[in-house]
Amino acid sequence: MKGAASTMRRVAVVGGGIAGLSAAYQLHRADAAGMPIRFTLFEASPRLGGIIDTTRRDGFTIEGGPDGWVSEKSWARELAAELGLADAIVGSLDAERVTYIATEGALTAMPKGMRMMVPGDLQAAMDSPLFTDAAKQAMAAEPARAEELRRSALARSTDRSDESVRDFTVRHFGAEVADTVAAPLLAGVFGGDISHLSVRSVMPHFITLEQEHGSLILGLQHGAQNHSTASSIFSSLRDGLGSLVEHLAARLPAHAMHCEALVTGLERTHAGWKIYRRGADAEVFDGVIAALPAPHTARLLAPVDAALPPLMPQTFSSAIVVALAFAPGANLRLPPGFGFLVPQSARSAEKGALLACTFLHQKYPHRAPAGGALLRAFFGGPGAASLLPESDEALERLAVDLLAEFLGPLPPRQFTVVRRWPNSLPLYPVGHLERIDQLAARVAQIPGLRITGSLLRGVGLPDVIHQSRDAAQSLAQELSGA
Ligand SMILES: Cc1cc2nc3c(=O)[nH]c(=O)nc-3n(C[C@H](O)[C@H](O)[C@H](O)COP(=O)(O)OP(=O)(O)OC[C@H]3O[C@@H](n4cnc5c(N)ncnc54)[C@H](O)[C@@H]3O)c2cc1C
Repeated sequence: MKGAASTMRRVAVVGGGIAGLSAAYQLHRADAAGMPIRFTLFEASPRLGGIIDTTRRDGFTIEGGPDGWVSEKSWARELAAELGLADAIVGSLDAERVTYIATEGALTAMPKGMRMMVPGDLQAAMDSPLFTDAAKQAMAAEPARAEELRRSALARSTDRSDESVRDFTVRHFGAEVADTVAAPLLAGVFGGDISHLSVRSVMPHFITLEQEHGSLILGLQHGAQNHSTASSIFSSLRDGLGSLVEHLAARLPAHAMHCEALVTGLERTHAGWKIYRRGADAEVFDGVIAALPAPHTARLLAPVDAALPPLMPQTFSSAIVVALAFAPGANLRLPPGFGFLVPQSARSAEKGALLACTFLHQKYPHRAPAGGALLRAFFGGPGAASLLPESDEALERLAVDLLAEFLGPLPPRQFTVVRRWPNSLPLYPVGHLERIDQLAARVAQIPGLRITGSLLRGVGLPDVIHQSRDAAQSLAQELSGA
């Protein structure tokens, strides 16, 4: 790499989803703060935002991708506030927070106080018809096993050994809680099988609780005494997450953002990073940030260092979202709450891919006009891939038929929005964090390169934003010699 610290350094950001936009925003701030850094962003599709995809129509705000973020992690909220959106942040309507588990054509409420698969309110779990007596006994016995669980957690922490979410849940609460609660909850986020999902990667908070308290139930009770739970569990933006993308784009120089700019190759040359694009001349940059879905990152970086792709997640789940908008006055009868999850046991071969349904107008404010309703069916896991080629009409029919099994016949829709996200959710396998540490160490040996996005240490928006801003900041420092 060339020259003195004051020479203007050029960075290519490849990918215009929230990862690429957050990275570009951070580089732009570095530039504004006097660092000699300029960025150019390349996005393959005609629009920015990637999986964030908000449709506003007839008073409905419909999310085709993420619908909000976990409030506990501050990074999405901080970015929104920096962009002037603090007043537009809305909390989930937690007074109505009930999630149901679909069982044999009926919906059974998860007991109050459940935090993922951990019964924060043991009495509520004991009173719930969701669990058999055997499962209740396993839950009730967990606090008494605190010392044994803590010792085994500490033994594991010394060698950072990982295990699957299923094994972890079974150790604490038995197989029934793993299959009835943990599996559908995690499938709704990762579309994947909890027998393969790394507990350290997707539930670091529970690992800490286990190390400190042994019992997760006691750990949650201790936390509840020490923390206020005043804020909502999920957050979103009044006009949809698309406003985050719109505000980011508005802050960034338009001439630096290129849509319909598919990057086809990256090459490290003596002059810097050569970026090859479809239909354009190759350009040389001082640095590059790959902010792409993992399979694309792997393909572009394999020629740079063949050791990088094997360290990235290798398995991905596809997702399909079918959002059904019901006009005010449509006679849709729903129970209170945020929606329902469909565990494996309630899925047949043909309905196998329906993982969840969210009652969006009951989860967040401003999602439907007064009196209207917005349902969102989420298809994922292995079954979703085979549904991807189906037409929008066929997917709408499938969603309507499957939801009717649990909600009764649905009234006519005002309109429907269907979105397909092939291979969009990386499945973090057991040992994932260790491989990501190795990936980071390897990337650190390659001057001017950063990797970000959902392949690293969290698929949720706060993590992706945090990782991307960090990557951009450290690249700006590296290139400017700061
Ligand atoms: C259906 C669904 C629901 C979700 N719900 C939530 C939720 O409620 N809350 C939450 O926190 N998270 C949620 N997530 C996860 C979250 O949305 C993603 O992790 C996050 O949006 C990923 O952002 P990204 O920028 O890394 O990737 P993407 O959004 O995939 O962006 C990558 C971009 O790179 C572009 N690209 C690809 N190849 C090239 C190339 N060669 N050259 C140039 N550009 C290229 C793509 O066109 C795309 O725009 C959900 C994910 C899915 C799929």
